[in-house]
Amino acid sequence: MLMIKRLMTKYIPAMLTCEEIDDFLYDFHEGQLSYTEHLTFKLHLRLCKECKDYVRKYKNTIRMSQAGFTKADPAEKVPEELIEVILKSRTKK
Ligand SMILES: [Zn+2]
Repeated sequence: MLMIKRLMTKYIPAMLTCEEIDDFLYDFHEGQLSYTEHLTFKLHLRLCKECKDYVRKYKNTIRMSQAGFTKADPAEKVPEELIEVILKSRTKK
């Protein structure tokens, strides 16, 4: 597999290496790649299982962190248990 990848990057000039995929990933996700870059990126993912998995994990991480941000909505920031603990500590005195 590694051999095939080496040949690919050697004979297809626009072909990205796995390291370059890593560099392009952020821009790809943000939609900042040019049309050609986008195509070569996609082509690499078609041919390289490692990078495909990597991109999938990256997307999941982004999604999870975004979900984490919405969860931290100020209105729901203080958990019930914490309020109870504060109230109990106040009545102790
Ligand atoms: Zn790759």
